[in-house]
Amino acid sequence: MSVGKKYVSNNRSPLISEMPYSISYRHSYGEISKFFIDLSQGKLLGTVCRNGEKHKNGGDLLFLPPRADCPECLSEVNEWIDLTDAEFRVYSFTHVYFAGESFLGKVPFTLINIEVVGYDNSYSKLISTLVLDDEGEIHVDREKVKIGMKVKPKFRKVQPEKIDASALYFVPAENL
Ligand SMILES: [Zn+2]
Repeated sequence: MSVGKKYVSNNRSPLISEMPYSISYRHSYGEISKFFIDLSQGKLLGTVCRNGEKHKNGGDLLFLPPRADCPECLSEVNEWIDLTDAEFRVYSFTHVYFAGESFLGKVPFTLINIEVVGYDNSYSKLISTLVLDDEGEIHVDREKVKIGMKVKPKFRKVQPEKIDASALYFVPAENL
């Protein structure tokens, strides 16, 4: 007998006890609170840093999700830009067949990286969910999802104090 086998039970079930467990988590959105407040009102905002001369690409940087500080010129970013009606495309996507417990009931679903047309930088590739039936239900015909397809934002109605990133999702901008 190996040493390990001494600790393996072949015929006995483990004792399992159940006890209630509840936790309330307070989360601050800090300097980007405006992003979430406006999401609850059906608006999608990003931030922009216009210190182009200090940026690697020499131009403006769009942040989506927004940032309060620029990682390239290290200055505060105070300019908000309304992207609700901007043009968005799928930059990359993945079909999710297994997920953490809170999302397990929603699989399979599709996560997308979106790009904002006109802003070619790595700080504006928001991750969101792609929904194909436009009803807010997660139902995906995966064959139809393509890199480069045009998408538009949609918003679930959520009270500001209950909001998180799931208030935002995307649907195809054109008939598939
Ligand atoms: Zn900057």
